[in-house]
Formats: sequence, C-alpha cells, structure tokens
Amino acid sequence: MVETKTSQLPLRQQTAPNASSNLLSAFSATNLEWQSFDFYLKTLAVALSGVMDSDIWQNLVVQVGSAEPAIRHGMCALGSIFRHSARESKGPTVECGCLNCRQALRSYNKSISCLTDRLERDDPSVVALVSCAIYICIEMYRDNDDAALGLVAKGCEILSNLARRNRTERGPMAEFRLVSLFVRLQLLSAMCGQPVPLPISELDYPSATPWLIDTIQGARAILFSIMRETQSFRLRCFQIESEVVAGKNGPEIINSLLAEQESLQLKLDAWYGAFRRLLQHQPVSDGNKELAISMLHVYHAVAKIFTATGLGYSQDIYAAFDDDFRTIIRIIDSSLGVAQNGNESEVDFSFEMGFMPPLYLAALKCRDSALRRKALSLMALTKDKEGTWGRRECMCVASRVINLEEGTSDLQLPDHVEERATPLLFHDVLIHHRHQSGDTSFVDVIYVWRSPTPGETWKTMQETLTI
Ligand SMILES: [Zn+2]
Repeated sequence: MVETKTSQLPLRQQTAPNASSNLLSAFSATNLEWQSFDFYLKTLAVALSGVMDSDIWQNLVVQVGSAEPAIRHGMCALGSIFRHSARESKGPTVECGCLNCRQALRSYNKSISCLTDRLERDDPSVVALVSCAIYICIEMYRDNDDAALGLVAKGCEILSNLARRNRTERGPMAEFRLVSLFVRLQLLSAMCGQPVPLPISELDYPSATPWLIDTIQGARAILFSIMRETQSFRLRCFQIESEVVAGKNGPEIINSLLAEQESLQLKLDAWYGAFRRLLQHQPVSDGNKELAISMLHVYHAVAKIFTATGLGYSQDIYAAFDDDFRTIIRIIDSSLGVAQNGNESEVDFSFEMGFMPPLYLAALKCRDSALRRKALSLMALTKDKEGTWGRRECMCVASRVINLEEGTSDLQLPDHVEERATPLLFHDVLIHHRHQSGDTSFVDVIYVWRSPTPGETWKTMQETLTI
C-alpha cells in the first residue's frame, strides 16, 4: 500500500486528554488517518463507552494504543468506518466503497499485519484481546455479524488459554476489564443463538459469592455472569425437553434441571440484595449512573423471567410475568427519555447491548397485547444497532410475531407442516440471516413451536421478511 501524504496533526491541548495528546505527537500518519484517529478520540470513544465503559474505550484502548501500532491502526479503522455515517444516511455494509470505508479497510489491514508481527513476540495477549474487541466493533458496525461472533469466540479462546497458563505456569492473569468484556460478548453471542463452546470455569470471574459488589461495573459483571449461566441453562432445557417428549430421557434429568433452576434463582436473589445495598450507599450522581442502574434493574428482571421460564413447555407460562414485563417497560420508557436528552452523539450505535434486547423479549414473550405493542413502539427509540442487535430487523420480526400470535396475520405453512398449535405461540424465533438486494433489506426468520399433538416434538418454519 502506498502512502501518498504524511503529516503530523497539530496538538490540541485544550480538547484532547493527556494520553491522547502524547499519542498524537508519537507517530505520523496520512491526513485521512489523522482525521479518523481524531474522530475516534473526540467522538467515538465516548459513544462506544456508553454509560459504563469509559475505562475500556477511553482509557485502556488509548493506553495500549500509545505503544502498539496494531491498536493505533485499529483506532483509525474504527474512526474511518464510523465517519462513513456522517455522509451516508445509513450504516455501512461490507460492500460499501465510500472514501471512509476504503480508508477503514486499509487501516484494518495495517492493524492485522502489525498484530501478526506482534504475535511472534512475547506475551501479546492484551494487544490481541484489545485488537479483537476493536475488530468485533468494526464487524458489528458494518453488519458482518457472523464475523463479529467468530471473533468473540477467538477472544474467548485467548482468555481461556491465558487462564490455563495462569493455573499451570503462574502466567499473567488477564485484565479484569477484558475478562468482563468478553463474558458480556459471550452472553451476546449466546443470545444470538451462537453460544461460545467453552466450559464456564475457563472464563470465570473470581467467585461471584459472597456478593462483594462495590461498584456498578462490578454489579454488572456478576449479573452478566449469572445471565450467561441462565442462557446455557435454557439451551440445555430446550435440548433435553425435546428428547423427553420423544421418551429418551427420564425424571432424573428434569430433577437436575429443576435444582439448577433453583440455584440460579437463589443467585439472582442474592445479587439483587447486594445490588440494593450498593445503591443505598451510592448516591445517583449523574444521568449516566442513573441509566446504568436502570439497565441493571431491567437485565435482572429479564434474567428472572428467563430463569423461571426455562423449563416451560407451554408458552402460556409467560402470562405469569405481566408485572415483570410492565416493570421492564416502565423503566425503559422513562430511561429512553433520559438517554435521548443527554445524547448529542452522532453515533447511532452502541457496542454493548442496551434496552433493545429486553424490549424485543417483551414484544415476543409478553402475553398482554397492549404491553407488548408498547415494547415494540419503544424499540423505535433505541440505537440503530446495539452490538449485533439491529433495530430495524428486530422491530420487523417482533411486529410479525405479534400479528401472527394474535391472529391478525397468518403464517403460510408449507404442505408438509400441517399441524399448528391454536393459538400459535412460538417457543423461539431465530433471526437467521439478513441480506440485501438493491436498496431493500430482507431477513430470514425461523419460527419454532411445539406441536399440539401429544407425542410429537417440534415444528419449525422459515420465512423471509422485507425490512
Ligand atoms: Zn462507506
């Protein structure tokens, strides 16, 4: 690659934090790279930090970037690809060939090449993990979610190897911030139907008991760790339930799942007690903190519902959680107002999941028609993308599911799928694949429901929706 123009960006002492000022004077780059780098430092790092992660995007990335070219080029790549949106009306796709996206790819390639060199030297784990987080962000933003999830698995593998080396050779421990980040990404991956195949202990935190929660970030780390277990519990419930229906497994398996469910419920209760005690001693100091607290209340309610309904054969089980759904929607309704008032960012994306997944869950699973429609309408106020959760396709699918379940539209079943439950309530709805043709986006959806015929197992059907 030929660099046509090299210059040094003038220092901006009055606006750039110290670390970034040092960084700006430390290396040279093309004008376009400087602009992207500047955009990362001034705008994007704040946006990616959301309400809880300034320690990662504004501190850790900048610190590691001051010594590591792989990270600096990664920051340039991020800056470039997000600058695309300032000119285009929508987020970039993998095919976009605009000036910023082309520059992003150049910086991305440079970063990978520097990382490859770096991996040949001693203990590059932190560089590899921070690079991985940056690449995941790039792939999520340009709607290349499969690649992003592949990188999540890669990051988890690096952490797992680190944990093993720490145990056997007393090697260095991974930074808590990075472990915590990848556990959250692992949960995100599981929620997208792609659980990372790693034993939980491989990536686990220092023991989550006795609930020594002393910060909001610490509270989130433990809650997400429990949610990851809940997700894995639900997946096993589904796999085992299918076999139970087929008569392959007996009551001892169900009993062990019931015990696991009770243990998860106790953990969630203990977490909530510790969280309440934390809030008694920590005044709500600003809008970000208020939002973070609201998010944790919402995720806790979601985890409670997910845990309690894991073993549910019947979708009617969700009717018992109207009050919890009402609480989730009430908190999000008031929080989205706070988020919008305090948000002047031009970045319509958040790296971490925010309120979209809980709203999507409520729209899909709440059995109160008015409440689930309220959840659907609130989804319109969330970011265009939260991690791998795209607002437009989630709204499109949720709207379709509500109409199908409430009988206002009909599923065109193929001839070989003759039976359907009455009313049709879906056990699961998988957003399988999103694709583009011209200016139109489509999403492939797989519906999973249980046959009403005794002794029968599960039915699935796929359809393509126009977003
Ligand atoms: Zn572009």
